[in-house]
Amino acid sequence: MIVVMQEGCTKQQVSHVVKLVREMKLKDHVIVGTERTVVAVIGDDRFKDRSVLESCPGVDRVVPILAPYKIASRQTHPEPSVIPLGGSMGATCGGKRLCVMAGPCSVEDRSQVLELAHAIKEHGGTVLRGGAFKPRTNPYEFQGLGEKGLEILAEAREQTGLAIVTEVMSVDQVLLVARYADVLQIGTRNMHNFNLLVAVGRTNKPVLLKRGWSSTFNEFMLAAEYIIQAGNPNVILCERGIRTHEEYVRNTLALAIVPAVKRESHLPIIVDPAHGTGRAYMVPSMCRAAVAAGADGLMIEVHQDPEHALTDGAQSLSPDAFAQTMKETRAVAEAVGREL
Ligand code: PEP
Ligand code: MN
Repeated sequence: MIVVMQEGCTKQQVSHVVKLVREMKLKDHVIVGTERTVVAVIGDDRFKDRSVLESCPGVDRVVPILAPYKIASRQTHPEPSVIPLGGSMGATCGGKRLCVMAGPCSVEDRSQVLELAHAIKEHGGTVLRGGAFKPRTNPYEFQGLGEKGLEILAEAREQTGLAIVTEVMSVDQVLLVARYADVLQIGTRNMHNFNLLVAVGRTNKPVLLKRGWSSTFNEFMLAAEYIIQAGNPNVILCERGIRTHEEYVRNTLALAIVPAVKRESHLPIIVDPAHGTGRAYMVPSMCRAAVAAGADGLMIEVHQDPEHALTDGAQSLSPDAFAQTMKETRAVAEAVGREL
């Protein structure tokens, strides 16, 4: 951090700041400029109390330099992480090959999921998605099949070898969901549920962490930090759109977070254009844009009969549209040196 002193501060005030910095077991480097004096503080200051310095007489402001997250940061882990996803196809996320998590918003019934799983595998998907526990805004709407839904997903994995990703909504569901799933999904509404983040951090399953719809970049990274800090390094970030004043789309897909994550973190990031737009016709172009921007994968909702889907039909692709989207996105992937 850098402590910027007020114009006209006294030498004693600077010395006092230096003394406090040394008490924090950090090094100081005083730079006397023509108008201002600043004290550069050297060392890892992320867990030090900045407010002590901020309230010192003669201090104008304290500017942090290091990111507040640490183990999710590229500074402590320069190589990008490649996360093994489970299933028998050797799927990973973060390497040259893009990972595509596709499937229905909700697990509705056995034949629906098995049929979709085969179609997704055929067209190059690597992970089957589907919610068994659904976080619904309206308590009177379909809440998911629960454990029955998990059993159906597991059967689809047996038949296809696809890894399974599904949402876990609460701490008391973690062990149950981890028994069936290969990847535990934390939904947007739970990104700030710190007890849940710690609970999935204590499992040995990779975690797909969706961005909270009102969270900042730093809050998103700090949520990932909770999981890693609890012992689980296998975190995949997912941009799924944020809430803005725009009403034409369900959410605003904030694709610029992709290069930000690539610069600041070693964690892979995938993009979910279904929830990020809410409109099926936008999904193919946003898939291409996400891959062009450097995303490590995609999450795509697919349904045999989107008009009659129990949840999120308006943003779901038919299997044919999914096949076409994969084909078009593959061309972009090749252009940016990735495989799909
Ligand atoms: C989902 O993936 O079906 C879902 C509920 O996503 P989100 O948490 O991003 O709304
Ligand atoms: Mn959905």
